[in-house]
Amino acid sequence: MNATKQTARKRAATKRPAPARGAKAVAAAVRTMDALMAYAYALEIEAAERYSEFADAMEEHNNRAVGELFRKLARIEHKHAEQILEEMRWTAPPPPPDGGYRWQGLEGPETADFTTLHYLMQPYHALEIALLNEKRAFEFFTGLVRRATTDKVKRAAKEMAAEEAEHVRLIEDWMKKVPLPEPHWDVDLDPPRYVD
Ligand code: ZN
Repeated sequence: MNATKQTARKRAATKRPAPARGAKAVAAAVRTMDALMAYAYALEIEAAERYSEFADAMEEHNNRAVGELFRKLARIEHKHAEQILEEMRWTAPPPPPDGGYRWQGLEGPETADFTTLHYLMQPYHALEIALLNEKRAFEFFTGLVRRATTDKVKRAAKEMAAEEAEHVRLIEDWMKKVPLPEPHWDVDLDPPRYVD
């Protein structure tokens, strides 16, 4: 075996195992109010950051209407995060737990997936994405209610689930106020031209 292979092997052996993920792992990691609210805070901040990235992407493609909508969603999520700081009387964002957050996937449940973006998408589509994210956040807290190891965490998770349910309703109401997507919305009538 050559030297490079040997060091690679050594590195693999000393690497710490990846933290367990999934609803069970989260419930096991969230035993106190502080831990629960740190998760709640991280979930909102991650969602806000992703919406800002989406807004940037839409603006780059001159999709101003959807860009503005994602900006608004980012502001809303930021406000949710700030409310958590206030409620907890935290003067600074909570530090992530040892080994990081144990989301079920690689990202938080309220974080939008990049593959859902389309440069011609309409406000309605953006709200569809937001609706899905809020529903996932609701399920996240509902799962914690079921698996909570203390009454205090169970009660707080129930409250957070109720708040996410309220976010779901807000997005549903918002969807009623924007036009339904036109048929063939994804057909570009003025495609970008690439000239050498
Ligand atoms: Zn939410």
